[in-house]
Amino acid sequence: MMCDIVVERSWHSENMTDNQLEPCIKLPLEDGVLADIVEKAKDWALMHGACMRSKLNFSKDSLQFAPFVLLPSTFPQKEFKKAVEIQIILNELVHKVAHDYEFLSSSLKSTIEVDKFTGSLFQIYETVHKEGITQQTFSLGLFRSDYLAHSATNNNIKQVEINTIASGFGGISTHIPSLHRYILQELGHGDKVKNVPVNTALEGLCGGMLEAWKLFGDPNAVILFVVENITYNICDQRFHEFEIRRQNPAVIVVRRTLTQIADTAKLGKNMELIIDGLSVAVVYFRSGYEPAQYPSDNEWAARLMIERSLAIKCPSIHYHLAGTKKVQQALATPGILKKFLLDPAKVEALQEIFTGLYSLDLDEHGNRAANMAIMMPDGYVLKPQREGGGNNVYGEKIREVLQSMTDSPERTAWILMERIVPPVQKGYIIRPGGPKVPQMVNLVSELGIFGVIIGNSDTVIANQQVGYMLRTKLSDADEGGVAAGSGALDSPYLI
Ligand code: ADP
Ligand code: MG
Ligand code: MG
Repeated sequence: MMCDIVVERSWHSENMTDNQLEPCIKLPLEDGVLADIVEKAKDWALMHGACMRSKLNFSKDSLQFAPFVLLPSTFPQKEFKKAVEIQIILNELVHKVAHDYEFLSSSLKSTIEVDKFTGSLFQIYETVHKEGITQQTFSLGLFRSDYLAHSATNNNIKQVEINTIASGFGGISTHIPSLHRYILQELGHGDKVKNVPVNTALEGLCGGMLEAWKLFGDPNAVILFVVENITYNICDQRFHEFEIRRQNPAVIVVRRTLTQIADTAKLGKNMELIIDGLSVAVVYFRSGYEPAQYPSDNEWAARLMIERSLAIKCPSIHYHLAGTKKVQQALATPGILKKFLLDPAKVEALQEIFTGLYSLDLDEHGNRAANMAIMMPDGYVLKPQREGGGNNVYGEKIREVLQSMTDSPERTAWILMERIVPPVQKGYIIRPGGPKVPQMVNLVSELGIFGVIIGNSDTVIANQQVGYMLRTKLSDADEGGVAAGSGALDSPYLI
């Protein structure tokens, strides 16, 4: 472990110190000013629900503010705009990939033989595919495509991944620009608030759910949130629920775990999903993306039942699979994109945001990729088929893991990705229980753009970009998930 950290630091110090972005105002702030604004900002965050439940002192009766960055982080406007504009192309791509049985099957073939979790998801896909996905042809996608600006390419954005299930933080992130505008104003920089863009993620994501609800066509049917046994990110989820109720008070939202669904839900005579006497129009998964969320066969049975039902799934099993890292890697294979997108301009736009992604199958290509990473582990990230952060392998450890899998089919469950090295900027992270006067630190930011799509194999009835999130971490941390604990909520300061 120690070794990892040393390698990390040397990689960053060689490559990153010369790529610095200027913060939005002159730093450091004087200690007295800092202590005062931090106190106000914490209260603002608490009072506006920029909060999570504490993992250490869990209670359903109290909240903590979520870690946040005191000032909005500088982000190149041109790159932000690019990310926003490309979202509808990405939505279209995922949608088409999800409806291509041959492509999904062949891309995931080797992986599902060794990765039990992806294999179980694929089995559900196979089952409903064989039965004919006839009950409900429409899917709802609430996607989030994530980017880092890349030092090696002039801070052009590169896609980290696209999330097609449980894409979080649209709710809380919608409020962060207001927090940052408040802070800038309090610090006497009211002229700068215009550089923090409006965020309509929450409105757009919930609008998508309501459009799917309308499409379902039963005024009494509900929207079902599939949730974890314990929800830490409760504010984000409740913001979605409250916004749905605000936009259309006739629509009821219920929250159930996969275990509860297994115990109490059933299919009606027209394959309607019925839970506690309520017919379900839309199933919105905020759980179900990692193995621990399926503690027994019952939860898998629940997922299959949902998939077979008439309800519109967000995501459907094919949208879920289209968001796996293996599929992301397959899409980066030269020549593949034009199979899905007829317009060469769209293909070119996507190619520009993709970075090197390599299969680790046990063939010539896979061996070459593995050798490349063993020779230069700091240049890559090694990824399994998992979501939710904390699963990837970095630095020296890549060598170890790859060497332990030489000739092992297990290697095909992983992909290799070129490491993106984002620009650094100075700033302050405010955490619950942190000091009154925080230290100025080096930070890097990851941008997420939210997309909404509704369609089936014949038609797309909605395809939109609806908003963003920005999260920021220490420049020498490998990962920065806010829910996972090392990241902080942020918003972009566009220049
Ligand atoms: P997950 O689905 O678990 O979120 P990601 O692919 O997003 O998996 O990886 C988690 C985190 O790891 C990202 O948020 C980012 O901080 C870091 N990361 C992932 N891929 C890269 C990459 N190619 N270069 C640099 N950092 C990366
Ligand atoms: Mg993910
Ligand atoms: Mg991610």
